[in-house]
Amino acid sequence: MKPILLIDIDDTLLVFRMVPGICHSTSSLATVIRRYAVEERGMPEAESMARMEAVQARIKWWSWSDFLEEFHFEPGPFWEYAREVESHYLIPAEPGLPETLKRLREAGCSLYITSNNPEDGIRHKLRLAGISRPEELFDGFFSATRLRAMKAEVGYWQKVIEAIGAPLEQLCPVGDNPDDDCRIPARAGIRNSFLLRPRNSSQRLPAGCRVAESFRAVEEYLRGAPASGTGKIPCIGDKQLSE
Ligand SMILES: [Mg+2]
Repeated sequence: MKPILLIDIDDTLLVFRMVPGICHSTSSLATVIRRYAVEERGMPEAESMARMEAVQARIKWWSWSDFLEEFHFEPGPFWEYAREVESHYLIPAEPGLPETLKRLREAGCSLYITSNNPEDGIRHKLRLAGISRPEELFDGFFSATRLRAMKAEVGYWQKVIEAIGAPLEQLCPVGDNPDDDCRIPARAGIRNSFLLRPRNSSQRLPAGCRVAESFRAVEEYLRGAPASGTGKIPCIGDKQLSE
């Protein structure tokens, strides 16, 4: 049975590079929208803030396109601007990610994105991670906006399970957050997961959660090859995912 990988984006496929003077947050696109409005379109600062707040007050499960409409931005030029701005501090988490994902797919794995980003934010960030044609690699995106739930909620994972409709043993989140990507999915019944680059290595993790230092190490494990270099994975004896 081939694994179905449920892949996180922030700090999994993409990491922040520290740049002095730049606010690092997963909501940095909100800052980019306001900067585009003020610096490129001459909108007063206060009006840009009011428009951001209007969307947030009106739409609970927003996409970035809701803000672009509110600001009357054409999507094409805005997303090009956002890519240029954010490529300075959002960079691929490791070299060769598109190739690693392609090999996993060729080995029979299904790949989905599971992310709190809305779908247009997922596409933007995949592009920054070096993945320009996501439809060739991924079977689908489960954005929080689409599922009307966040990854920290058991209900999010229950909706993912229902949408995919495969046996639970096949499902395997891959992410950096021990709660969102391991413990909460485990509470929904998804036992297997990969935790990438955990910040606190002494924390207690659920059974079935394996720690890996890179996506490349996950690929080597799933393909049955020993992880090379420092990408060692504990619990290597448990091979049920590659069977
Ligand atoms: Mg993350």
